[in-house]
Amino acid sequence: MLYKIILFAILICLVYILFFGKKRKSRNESTTEDELMVECATCKMFIGVSEAVKKRGQYFCSQKCAKAK
Ligand SMILES: [Zn+2]
Repeated sequence: MLYKIILFAILICLVYILFFGKKRKSRNESTTEDELMVECATCKMFIGVSEAVKKRGQYFCSQKCAKAK
């Protein structure tokens, strides 16, 4: 009897983790969608601010573009 209760509790825990794990993942996806886009000062390409290379107050898409100016 006790074994069945423990098994049931573990099952609830697994469902709980799975549910919140999925919720957290979708929230991360929405934050990347809402990410600020910046323009590369060299090639004028738009990239996410977290991927951008910042130099002297300007954003660049890569180290190559950052060195070009
Ligand atoms: Zn660039």
